[in-house]
Amino acid sequence: MKSIVVEKNGGPEVLLLKDVPKPTVKPGHILVKNSYAGVNYIDTYFRTGLYKGELPMVLGKEGAGVIEEVGEGVSGLKPGDRVAYLMGDSGAYAEYALVNPSFARVLPGGISDKIGAAALLQGMTAYCLAAKAYAVKGGDWVLVHAAAGGTGRLIVQVCRALGANVIGTVSTEEKAEVARKAGAQHIIYYTRESVPERVKEITSNTGVRVVYDGVGKATFQASFDSLARLGYLIVFGNASGKPDPVDISILAKGNITLMRPQLYGFIATKEEFDEVTDQVFKLIEAGHLTIEVFKEYPLADAAKAHIDLEGRKTTGKLLIAIQ
Ligand code: NDP
Repeated sequence: MKSIVVEKNGGPEVLLLKDVPKPTVKPGHILVKNSYAGVNYIDTYFRTGLYKGELPMVLGKEGAGVIEEVGEGVSGLKPGDRVAYLMGDSGAYAEYALVNPSFARVLPGGISDKIGAAALLQGMTAYCLAAKAYAVKGGDWVLVHAAAGGTGRLIVQVCRALGANVIGTVSTEEKAEVARKAGAQHIIYYTRESVPERVKEITSNTGVRVVYDGVGKATFQASFDSLARLGYLIVFGNASGKPDPVDISILAKGNITLMRPQLYGFIATKEEFDEVTDQVFKLIEAGHLTIEVFKEYPLADAAKAHIDLEGRKTTGKLLIAIQ
Protein backbone atom coordinates (compact mmCIF):
# COMPACT_ATOMS: atom_id res chain seq x y z
CA MET A 1 0.00 0.00 0.00
CA LYS A 2 1.06 3.61 -0.40
CA SER A 3 1.84 5.56 2.74
CA ILE A 4 3.74 8.60 3.96
CA VAL A 5 6.75 7.49 5.91
CA VAL A 6 9.19 9.48 8.06
CA GLU A 7 12.60 7.80 8.23
CA LYS A 8 14.42 10.71 9.89
CA ASN A 9 13.17 13.82 11.65
CA GLY A 10 13.25 17.13 9.80
CA GLY A 11 11.30 19.54 7.61
CA PRO A 12 8.42 18.67 5.28
CA GLU A 13 10.94 17.15 2.84
CA VAL A 14 11.32 14.11 5.11
CA LEU A 15 7.77 13.02 4.26
CA LEU A 16 8.30 10.20 1.75
CA LEU A 17 5.64 8.49 -0.34
CA LYS A 18 6.52 4.79 -0.05
CA ASP A 19 5.11 1.39 -0.88
CA VAL A 20 4.93 -0.58 2.35
CA PRO A 21 3.22 -3.89 3.18
CA LYS A 22 -0.52 -3.57 3.82
CA PRO A 23 -1.09 -4.29 7.54
CA THR A 24 -2.64 -7.64 8.38
CA VAL A 25 -5.47 -7.53 10.86
CA LYS A 26 -4.55 -8.81 14.31
CA PRO A 27 -6.71 -9.90 17.23
CA GLY A 28 -8.53 -7.03 18.93
CA HIS A 29 -7.99 -4.66 15.96
CA ILE A 30 -9.77 -3.56 12.80
CA LEU A 31 -8.31 -2.89 9.37
CA VAL A 32 -9.69 0.30 7.82
CA LYS A 33 -9.48 1.22 4.14
CA ASN A 34 -8.95 4.96 4.47
CA SER A 35 -10.91 7.56 2.51
CA TYR A 36 -9.37 10.51 4.33
CA ALA A 37 -6.69 11.26 6.90
CA GLY A 38 -6.90 14.44 8.97
CA VAL A 39 -3.85 16.70 9.07
CA ASN A 40 -3.10 18.06 12.55
CA TYR A 41 -0.37 20.26 13.95
CA ILE A 42 0.74 17.32 16.11
CA ASP A 43 1.81 15.56 12.88
CA THR A 44 4.44 18.28 12.41
CA TYR A 45 5.74 17.70 15.97
CA PHE A 46 6.26 13.99 15.25
CA ARG A 47 7.86 14.88 11.91
CA THR A 48 10.35 17.33 13.44
CA GLY A 49 11.01 15.20 16.53
CA LEU A 50 9.56 17.73 19.03
CA TYR A 51 7.39 14.74 20.03
CA LYS A 52 9.34 11.49 19.98
CA GLY A 53 8.20 8.49 17.96
CA GLU A 54 9.92 5.32 16.81
CA LEU A 55 11.37 5.68 13.28
CA PRO A 56 10.50 4.85 10.57
CA MET A 57 6.90 5.94 11.24
CA VAL A 58 3.78 6.48 9.19
CA LEU A 59 2.36 9.87 10.15
CA GLY A 60 -1.25 10.76 10.94
CA LYS A 61 -3.37 10.61 14.09
CA GLU A 62 -6.90 10.41 12.65
CA GLY A 63 -8.77 9.09 9.65
CA ALA A 64 -12.02 7.77 8.30
CA GLY A 65 -13.00 5.03 5.91
CA VAL A 66 -14.58 1.61 5.63
CA ILE A 67 -13.75 -1.41 7.78
CA GLU A 68 -12.21 -4.08 5.56
CA GLU A 69 -11.52 -6.72 8.19
CA VAL A 70 -12.29 -7.26 11.85
CA GLY A 71 -9.83 -9.11 14.09
CA GLU A 72 -10.68 -11.90 16.50
CA GLY A 73 -12.40 -10.72 19.67
CA VAL A 74 -13.75 -7.44 18.27
CA SER A 75 -17.46 -6.95 18.87
CA GLY A 76 -19.89 -4.29 17.68
CA LEU A 77 -18.05 -3.54 14.42
CA LYS A 78 -18.17 -5.38 11.08
CA PRO A 79 -16.65 -5.19 7.60
CA GLY A 80 -18.38 -2.49 5.57
CA ASP A 81 -19.00 -0.17 8.55
CA ARG A 82 -17.97 3.45 7.95
CA VAL A 83 -15.85 4.66 10.84
CA ALA A 84 -13.80 7.62 12.00
CA TYR A 85 -10.92 6.86 14.31
CA LEU A 86 -7.96 8.20 16.26
CA MET A 87 -4.63 6.41 15.92
CA GLY A 88 -2.28 5.13 18.53
CA ASP A 89 1.20 4.20 17.34
CA SER A 90 0.95 3.75 13.58
CA GLY A 91 -0.37 6.41 11.23
CA ALA A 92 -3.33 7.39 9.08
CA TYR A 93 -1.46 8.90 6.10
CA ALA A 94 -1.81 5.57 4.28
CA GLU A 95 -4.21 3.54 2.17
CA TYR A 96 -4.98 1.23 5.12
CA ALA A 97 -4.69 1.59 8.88
CA LEU A 98 -4.70 -0.97 11.67
CA VAL A 99 -6.88 0.61 14.33
CA ASN A 100 -7.70 -0.08 17.97
CA PRO A 101 -11.52 -0.19 18.00
CA SER A 102 -11.60 1.54 21.39
CA PHE A 103 -10.78 4.70 19.43
CA ALA A 104 -13.05 4.11 16.43
CA ARG A 105 -16.68 5.10 16.01
CA VAL A 106 -19.27 4.18 13.41
CA LEU A 107 -20.29 7.39 11.65
CA PRO A 108 -23.95 8.40 11.88
CA GLY A 109 -25.77 8.46 8.50
CA GLY A 110 -25.66 12.26 8.33
CA ILE A 111 -21.87 12.51 8.76
CA SER A 112 -19.71 11.72 5.71
CA ASP A 113 -16.25 10.14 5.84
CA LYS A 114 -14.84 13.55 4.95
CA ILE A 115 -16.56 15.31 7.86
CA GLY A 116 -15.73 12.41 10.16
CA ALA A 117 -12.01 12.64 9.38
CA ALA A 118 -12.11 16.43 9.60
CA ALA A 119 -14.08 16.67 12.84
CA LEU A 120 -12.84 13.97 15.13
CA LEU A 121 -9.53 15.05 16.66
CA GLN A 122 -10.05 18.81 16.58
CA GLY A 123 -13.76 18.58 17.46
CA MET A 124 -13.07 16.30 20.42
CA THR A 125 -10.26 18.60 21.54
CA ALA A 126 -12.50 21.67 21.30
CA TYR A 127 -15.25 19.96 23.26
CA CYS A 128 -12.90 18.66 25.99
CA LEU A 129 -11.17 22.01 26.40
CA ALA A 130 -14.41 23.99 26.63
CA ALA A 131 -16.47 21.50 28.62
CA LYS A 132 -13.90 19.67 30.77
CA ALA A 133 -10.51 21.42 31.11
CA TYR A 134 -12.43 24.51 32.19
CA ALA A 135 -16.22 24.15 31.94
CA VAL A 136 -17.28 27.31 30.12
CA LYS A 137 -20.41 28.97 31.51
CA GLY A 138 -22.90 31.38 29.96
CA GLY A 139 -21.56 34.94 30.12
CA ASP A 140 -17.87 33.96 30.57
CA TRP A 141 -15.31 35.98 28.66
CA VAL A 142 -13.12 33.59 26.68
CA LEU A 143 -9.95 34.28 24.64
CA VAL A 144 -9.15 31.81 21.85
CA HIS A 145 -5.81 32.09 20.05
CA ALA A 146 -5.48 31.17 16.36
CA ALA A 147 -9.27 31.43 16.20
CA ALA A 148 -9.42 30.74 12.45
CA GLY A 149 -7.33 27.57 12.72
CA GLY A 150 -8.61 24.01 12.69
CA THR A 151 -8.94 23.64 16.45
CA GLY A 152 -9.38 27.35 17.30
CA ARG A 153 -12.43 27.74 15.02
CA LEU A 154 -14.10 24.81 16.73
CA ILE A 155 -13.27 26.06 20.25
CA VAL A 156 -14.92 29.37 19.30
CA GLN A 157 -18.02 27.49 18.17
CA VAL A 158 -18.27 25.26 21.26
CA CYS A 159 -17.76 28.27 23.57
CA ARG A 160 -20.49 30.20 21.77
CA ALA A 161 -22.81 27.19 22.01
CA LEU A 162 -22.14 27.26 25.78
CA GLY A 163 -23.12 30.94 25.93
CA ALA A 164 -19.67 32.54 26.30
CA ASN A 165 -18.47 35.89 24.95
CA VAL A 166 -15.59 35.04 22.64
CA ILE A 167 -12.52 37.07 21.70
CA GLY A 168 -10.41 35.49 18.96
CA THR A 169 -6.85 36.25 17.91
CA VAL A 170 -5.74 35.97 14.26
CA SER A 171 -2.90 37.19 12.04
CA THR A 172 -4.80 38.48 8.98
CA GLU A 173 -8.05 40.13 7.85
CA GLU A 174 -9.06 36.95 5.98
CA LYS A 175 -8.58 34.93 9.13
CA ALA A 176 -10.57 37.54 11.11
CA GLU A 177 -13.50 36.93 8.77
CA VAL A 178 -13.27 33.17 9.33
CA ALA A 179 -13.14 33.63 13.13
CA ARG A 180 -16.10 36.05 13.07
CA LYS A 181 -18.12 33.65 10.96
CA ALA A 182 -17.36 30.94 13.52
CA GLY A 183 -18.84 33.21 16.21
CA ALA A 184 -15.99 35.29 17.66
CA GLN A 185 -17.60 38.61 18.68
CA HIS A 186 -14.26 40.44 19.00
CA ILE A 187 -11.02 40.06 17.07
CA ILE A 188 -7.47 40.92 18.10
CA TYR A 189 -4.69 40.98 15.51
CA TYR A 190 -2.08 39.49 17.82
CA THR A 191 0.78 40.05 15.41
CA ARG A 192 0.35 43.83 15.62
CA GLU A 193 -1.82 44.66 18.66
CA SER A 194 -1.19 44.24 22.40
CA VAL A 195 -3.45 41.37 23.41
CA PRO A 196 -3.74 42.26 27.14
CA GLU A 197 -4.50 45.91 26.32
CA ARG A 198 -7.19 45.02 23.80
CA VAL A 199 -8.66 42.43 26.19
CA LYS A 200 -8.86 45.09 28.92
CA GLU A 201 -10.69 47.46 26.55
CA ILE A 202 -13.11 44.77 25.39
CA THR A 203 -13.88 43.39 28.89
CA SER A 204 -14.06 46.79 30.66
CA ASN A 205 -10.80 46.08 32.53
CA THR A 206 -11.91 42.72 33.90
CA GLY A 207 -9.86 40.32 31.78
CA VAL A 208 -11.03 36.93 30.55
CA ARG A 209 -12.09 33.94 32.63
CA VAL A 210 -10.19 31.49 30.40
CA VAL A 211 -7.59 31.57 27.64
CA TYR A 212 -7.30 28.66 25.20
CA ASP A 213 -3.74 28.89 23.89
CA GLY A 214 -2.53 26.46 21.22
CA VAL A 215 0.14 28.89 19.99
CA GLY A 216 2.41 28.40 23.02
CA LYS A 217 5.76 30.15 23.21
CA ALA A 218 4.85 33.40 21.42
CA THR A 219 1.58 33.99 23.29
CA PHE A 220 2.17 32.60 26.79
CA GLN A 221 2.89 35.92 28.52
CA ALA A 222 0.11 37.79 26.72
CA SER A 223 -2.31 35.01 27.63
CA PHE A 224 -1.31 35.22 31.29
CA ASP A 225 -1.63 39.01 31.29
CA SER A 226 -5.13 38.82 29.79
CA LEU A 227 -6.69 36.80 32.61
CA ALA A 228 -9.19 37.95 35.20
CA ARG A 229 -8.68 37.05 38.85
CA LEU A 230 -9.34 33.29 39.32
CA GLY A 231 -8.76 32.80 35.59
CA TYR A 232 -7.70 29.64 33.76
CA LEU A 233 -4.74 29.54 31.38
CA ILE A 234 -5.09 26.44 29.27
CA VAL A 235 -2.04 25.91 27.08
CA PHE A 236 -2.69 23.01 24.73
CA GLY A 237 -0.12 23.31 21.96
CA ASN A 238 3.12 24.64 20.53
CA ALA A 239 2.35 26.11 17.08
CA SER A 240 4.99 28.82 17.71
CA GLY A 241 7.25 26.57 19.82
CA LYS A 242 7.16 25.03 23.27
CA PRO A 243 6.54 27.65 26.00
CA ASP A 244 9.47 28.44 28.31
CA PRO A 245 9.51 26.83 31.77
CA VAL A 246 7.32 28.67 34.28
CA ASP A 247 7.99 29.69 37.89
CA ILE A 248 4.69 28.62 39.45
CA SER A 249 4.78 31.45 41.98
CA ILE A 250 3.52 33.75 39.18
CA LEU A 251 0.16 32.00 39.53
CA ALA A 252 -0.37 33.56 42.97
CA LYS A 253 -1.13 36.88 41.30
CA GLY A 254 -4.84 36.44 40.71
CA ASN A 255 -5.02 32.80 41.89
CA ILE A 256 -4.58 31.58 38.34
CA THR A 257 -5.00 27.96 37.30
CA LEU A 258 -2.50 26.81 34.66
CA MET A 259 -3.20 23.63 32.74
CA ARG A 260 -1.40 21.79 29.93
CA PRO A 261 -3.97 19.23 28.78
CA GLN A 262 -3.90 16.73 25.93
CA LEU A 263 -6.94 15.16 24.28
CA TYR A 264 -5.88 11.60 25.10
CA GLY A 265 -6.05 12.34 28.83
CA PHE A 266 -9.80 13.01 28.51
CA ILE A 267 -10.60 9.90 26.45
CA ALA A 268 -8.45 7.17 27.97
CA THR A 269 -11.35 4.70 28.23
CA LYS A 270 -13.81 3.49 25.58
CA GLU A 271 -16.66 5.03 27.64
CA GLU A 272 -14.94 8.43 27.67
CA PHE A 273 -14.13 8.20 23.95
CA ASP A 274 -17.75 7.33 23.12
CA GLU A 275 -19.14 10.07 25.38
CA VAL A 276 -16.97 12.73 23.74
CA THR A 277 -17.62 11.52 20.17
CA ASP A 278 -21.38 11.53 20.95
CA GLN A 279 -21.10 15.15 22.07
CA VAL A 280 -19.17 16.12 18.92
CA PHE A 281 -21.66 14.37 16.61
CA LYS A 282 -24.55 16.05 18.48
CA LEU A 283 -22.92 19.47 18.13
CA ILE A 284 -22.46 18.86 14.39
CA GLU A 285 -26.00 17.60 13.91
CA ALA A 286 -27.41 20.58 15.85
CA GLY A 287 -25.45 22.98 13.62
CA HIS A 288 -23.33 24.32 16.51
CA LEU A 289 -20.13 22.86 15.02
CA THR A 290 -19.55 23.44 11.33
CA ILE A 291 -16.56 21.85 9.68
CA GLU A 292 -14.73 23.86 7.03
CA VAL A 293 -12.24 21.99 4.91
CA PHE A 294 -9.53 24.37 3.72
CA LYS A 295 -8.09 21.95 1.19
CA GLU A 296 -7.84 18.27 0.30
CA TYR A 297 -4.32 17.14 -0.59
CA PRO A 298 -3.51 13.91 -2.42
CA LEU A 299 -1.40 11.50 -0.35
CA ALA A 300 1.65 12.32 -2.49
CA ASP A 301 1.31 16.02 -1.50
CA ALA A 302 1.37 15.52 2.28
CA ALA A 303 4.54 17.64 2.48
CA LYS A 304 2.67 20.54 0.84
CA ALA A 305 -0.03 20.25 3.52
CA HIS A 306 2.65 20.59 6.21
CA ILE A 307 4.25 23.56 4.43
CA ASP A 308 0.89 25.34 4.24
CA LEU A 309 -0.03 24.55 7.87
CA GLU A 310 3.30 25.65 9.33
CA GLY A 311 3.41 28.64 6.97
CA ARG A 312 0.19 30.01 8.61
CA LYS A 313 -1.47 29.90 5.20
CA THR A 314 -4.47 27.86 6.25
CA THR A 315 -7.81 28.18 8.04
CA GLY A 316 -10.08 25.36 9.19
CA LYS A 317 -9.18 21.76 8.42
CA LEU A 318 -6.63 20.21 6.07
CA LEU A 319 -7.34 16.71 4.80
CA ILE A 320 -5.43 14.08 2.89
CA ALA A 321 -7.76 12.48 0.35
CA ILE A 322 -6.68 8.89 -0.06
CA GLN A 323 -9.19 6.90 -2.16
P1 NDP B 1 -4.12 25.33 13.18
O1 NDP B 1 -5.02 25.05 12.03
O2 NDP B 1 -4.67 26.13 14.31
O3 NDP B 1 -2.81 26.02 12.63
C1 NDP B 1 -1.96 26.68 13.49
C2 NDP B 1 -2.25 28.18 13.56
O4 NDP B 1 -1.50 28.71 14.63
C3 NDP B 1 -1.83 28.97 12.34
O5 NDP B 1 -2.77 28.98 11.29
C4 NDP B 1 -1.59 30.34 12.92
O6 NDP B 1 -2.78 31.13 12.88
C5 NDP B 1 -1.24 30.08 14.38
N1 NDP B 1 0.18 30.39 14.66
C6 NDP B 1 0.60 31.34 15.53
N2 NDP B 1 1.94 31.40 15.54
C7 NDP B 1 2.38 30.48 14.66
C8 NDP B 1 3.67 30.10 14.23
N3 NDP B 1 4.78 30.68 14.70
N4 NDP B 1 3.77 29.12 13.30
C9 NDP B 1 2.67 28.53 12.82
N5 NDP B 1 1.41 28.85 13.18
C10 NDP B 1 1.26 29.83 14.11
O7 NDP B 1 -3.55 23.93 13.73
P2 NDP B 1 -4.29 22.82 14.60
O8 NDP B 1 -5.70 23.19 14.80
O9 NDP B 1 -3.95 21.50 14.06
O10 NDP B 1 -3.53 22.93 16.01
C11 NDP B 1 -3.57 24.15 16.76
C12 NDP B 1 -2.87 23.92 18.06
O11 NDP B 1 -3.65 23.04 18.86
C13 NDP B 1 -1.49 23.26 17.93
O12 NDP B 1 -0.62 23.81 18.86
C14 NDP B 1 -1.77 21.82 18.28
O13 NDP B 1 -0.65 21.14 18.75
C15 NDP B 1 -2.82 22.01 19.36
N6 NDP B 1 -3.65 20.82 19.61
C16 NDP B 1 -3.47 20.21 20.81
C17 NDP B 1 -4.23 19.13 21.16
C18 NDP B 1 -4.06 18.54 22.50
O14 NDP B 1 -4.57 17.43 22.74
N7 NDP B 1 -3.37 19.19 23.42
C19 NDP B 1 -5.16 18.53 20.21
C20 NDP B 1 -5.32 19.29 18.98
C21 NDP B 1 -4.55 20.39 18.71
P3 NDP B 1 -2.61 32.74 12.68
O15 NDP B 1 -1.98 32.93 11.33
O16 NDP B 1 -3.97 33.30 12.81
O17 NDP B 1 -1.69 33.19 13.78
